[in-house]
Amino acid sequence: MKSFESLGLSKGLVESVLQIGFETPTPIQEKAIPVLLNGNRDFVGLAQTGTGKTAAFGLPLLDLVDDARRDTQALVLAPTRELGLQIANDLENFSEKFKAFNIVAVYGGSSISEQIRKVKKGAQIIVATPGRLIDLIDRKAINLSTIQYVVLDEADEMLNMGFKEDLDKILSFTPDTKNTWLFSATMPREVKSIMKNYMSDPFELTVGEQNTGNVNIEHNYVMVQERDKYPALKRILDDNPDIFGLIFCRTRIDTQRIAEMLMKDSYNADALHGDLTQQQRDRVMMKFRSRTLQILVATDVAARGIDVEDITHVIHMNIPDEMEFYTHRSGRTARAGKKGISIAMITRRELGKVKQIEKTLKSPFKRMMVPTGANVCQKQLLALMHKVREVKVNEEEIAEFLPAVYEELKDLTKPELIKRFASIEFNRFLDYYRNAPDLNQDDRGRSSSDGEGERYITGSRFFINLGKMDGMEKGDMLALIDETSGVTKQHIGRIELKGAYSFFEVEKEKVNDIVNGFQGIEYKGRQVRVEVTERKDGGGREGGSRDYKRGKPSTGGYAKKSNNKYADQKRKRY
Ligand code: AMP
Repeated sequence: MKSFESLGLSKGLVESVLQIGFETPTPIQEKAIPVLLNGNRDFVGLAQTGTGKTAAFGLPLLDLVDDARRDTQALVLAPTRELGLQIANDLENFSEKFKAFNIVAVYGGSSISEQIRKVKKGAQIIVATPGRLIDLIDRKAINLSTIQYVVLDEADEMLNMGFKEDLDKILSFTPDTKNTWLFSATMPREVKSIMKNYMSDPFELTVGEQNTGNVNIEHNYVMVQERDKYPALKRILDDNPDIFGLIFCRTRIDTQRIAEMLMKDSYNADALHGDLTQQQRDRVMMKFRSRTLQILVATDVAARGIDVEDITHVIHMNIPDEMEFYTHRSGRTARAGKKGISIAMITRRELGKVKQIEKTLKSPFKRMMVPTGANVCQKQLLALMHKVREVKVNEEEIAEFLPAVYEELKDLTKPELIKRFASIEFNRFLDYYRNAPDLNQDDRGRSSSDGEGERYITGSRFFINLGKMDGMEKGDMLALIDETSGVTKQHIGRIELKGAYSFFEVEKEKVNDIVNGFQGIEYKGRQVRVEVTERKDGGGREGGSRDYKRGKPSTGGYAKKSNNKYADQKRKRY
């Protein structure tokens, strides 16, 4: 393994890099830096994100650009504002103690006049997104005629995002004598055409096999019905209490919806998509980067270029049609040599797509089973116990409160104490996951969540504040619905009886009958509450969460089963 010193970089730069904590060069750095340092040849690097390519082009660039001159000598183009800022930030960190550069990032969604002011002060290196750079060119606020080096980072992404014309225009403003360094994770036709049109005899470097994904990513899929995707997602999240994850959805609406459902279910989640203002996006990204936010739900476009370290899981709510999308999504995890897990949620019909991606990636997908309720309970319980073991005890301040605590618990043995303590938190999960169906689809596309003899009705799902603790059984629920609203059995789908509450599904046309029928109804002296719960395709079957507000078992006296369950019902409407 080579050292940074041996690559030909100047001493000051090597020192800076070592100070940052990079000890040895990554493979792409080892191979690219000596070539780029010559400064006399075009270059094409085929490498995934996360391989260290920013330093691979950034370090030679910082050595080649002259900080004694004020004119713009290098231009780095990146597909997104996030990636642009990341690159500018890295370049500043690498060069801080080495040369006095003025590095300016220009990107959309932020004051253009401020950026023009910075550029006019004299920027040796400009990092830009193509759209904003075109604005600056059109306003004649930037002079590209002195450019010696152009870096096209994530070229495939820029072309995917429709920047082809912008790139053509930008490159036409740069001198023919410049060197162009292009980096791309994939090599579609459009990238080849850029190479053909704008580069001469480039040095080509492939790190890892072309189109082969990052080997540190473990590719998995779970096979569930479309409508079970959200409950399956929650199981996966509950089964990984320490997850730091990115969830991808196809559309902005889905992204917002999934994020909102998760937030409502008390997960630490938020959304990132194009309908948000730049300020909102910045805020979300800041929370995610600082790990104040645990789960980010994003669209493909919004998440491009996100480089956040230590993302443990990338979850795809659907499998993308384009291979490139899959590569970029999953490439957000397993960065800087770390391991990462990618989980695609698919229906049986999408199995073909998985096989296709598998072939191109040359990396097998593993079928992962959606955890069962028991798996989740076990995981959560152990996570809680781990927390107990790790908790920092503030000996001094707790001391005065302990005698009373010891007194209160003095007759309990250690196993008793552990059992009770664990139950405080555990009961919520146990309640929620008791009788939870198996969400995995079998080879014929069915799952046990179909329920025996039950139909799935495309309609609405209701929450009702009566359940097993009120002595309810399915037949009783059917009878109650019929008597109060006139909606009969054949219009009713799945009934899920829980402790103090239940869910039932009815055909869409009957929704109003239910809402009207249940108005003012009391059951055993208690006001009956019936509400439509959110549930479209992929909606939350299980409705509950780590902190399910409604689902707490009631300690009231409903548990007694009476022979005539409706005897003490007061029918206000009847
Ligand atoms: P990149 O592919 O440039 O986005 O880099 C991915 C991650 O690897 C970034 O977080 C870098 O800070 C880190 N990195 C790059 N080069 C090295 C190196 N030689 N040693 C350790 N970490 C590195």
